[in-house]
This record gives sequence, structure tokens and C-alpha cells, in this order.
Amino acid sequence: MNVLLVEDDDMLGTSLLENLREEGYLAEWLTDGRQARATLKTNQFDLVLLDLGLGGYDGIEVLRDLRLRDHRTQVIILTARDQVLERVNGLDNGADDYLVKPFDLQELLARIRVISRRQLGNGDPLIRHLGVTLDPYGRKTWFQGNPVSLTTLEYALLLALLERPGRVWSRQDLLARLGKSDEVHGSMIEVHVHAIRRKLKSDLIKSARGVGYFTPKAVA
Ligand code: CA
Repeated sequence: MNVLLVEDDDMLGTSLLENLREEGYLAEWLTDGRQARATLKTNQFDLVLLDLGLGGYDGIEVLRDLRLRDHRTQVIILTARDQVLERVNGLDNGADDYLVKPFDLQELLARIRVISRRQLGNGDPLIRHLGVTLDPYGRKTWFQGNPVSLTTLEYALLLALLERPGRVWSRQDLLARLGKSDEVHGSMIEVHVHAIRRKLKSDLIKSARGVGYFTPKAVA
């Protein structure tokens, strides 16, 4: 995979370039927004890692200009601007993912792998529903672009519920899916559903009174 890194911070740029190459990516590094814009006009990349604050030049401009011509190149925004508006702005302008600095290198590499699988023609492996994104291979969860830490059981439960929105699962079916028996783990599902609602959002998992749980098909 062919990666263009656009980052004006020398230390971060040096370290990212080194790590990308160690992972086997063909990586180039530019520090200048105008130069990045020009390079993207003439060269094809699979992925752009794009800083937004580029010494007086706004990375959003690089992104907008790219999206006028090209929707195939994936873009992950890397920025210290952690305000919600900036995030939404980046995604509205065609970014595929977003990491707020300081971020963990392993997190970035995992997200690049997701994009890499997508580009290899395996289709989009991510499950996206109601602002939640689940990576069924990487066992990762995001809510509105932000990583959320779920336990193994919470993750397995959410995966089941998100695979087929609208399907009502009984407690017994969910326990079976988690490989747990009814007698021993009677209240386990309630506890995990409560935790998922707290970590993600309260109305993500609905209760079907006396029957079980489901995720709604779309926002009501
Ligand atoms: Ca910067």
C-alpha cells in the first residue's frame, strides 16, 4: 500500500515514516500543505495520513481539493484539534477516519490495516450502524469516530446485536451466542447491555419487554 504522510511536526513525521516503512508500506512524507496538494494532483496514493494544522495551511483544503477528483484514496486525519466541530468538518469533507493527537501508534496501524483490507477488495469489513463502528476482525469499536473500550463479552454481545438490526434476541439466545449457560449466568446479559449503553449510547440497544433485546434499524 502506497501511503502519503502529510505532517509538519518533524519528530512525529520522522517516527511515523519509520514505522510505516517497517510495517512494509511504501511511504512518502511531506511537511507542506501546498506541496501535498500538488503531489496529490499528479500521484496516486492508496492512503493519505493528513495533519490539519500545517503551519498556516489548512489540511482541510488538501482534503477538499483531493475529493474534487478522487474518492478512492482513503484519508485518515491526524490532528490535535479535538473539538467535535473539527471532527465533523473533517468527516464531512470526505475523510474516512480520524485520530486525535496524541494517539497510540498501534491504534493508527490497526486502522491502516482495516483500510488495507478494504482496498484489497475484501469489501468493507466494518459494521457501521447508528454512529457505532465495529471491526469484526480487529475486535475494535468506535462511537462517532472515537475508540471505545469494550470487554470481550460486551464486544461479542454488541456484534451479535449489530449484525442484524431489528432482530429481537432472547436472553437465552444471547447467552448461547456468548457460550454461556442460562442457569449460571441469568443476569449477565442485563449487566453487559447496561455497560454497553453507558459506554456508547443509551438508546443503542432497545429492550423488547419480556422478550429480549435488539438494535433499532435506524434512528427513530
Ligand atoms: Ca501540525
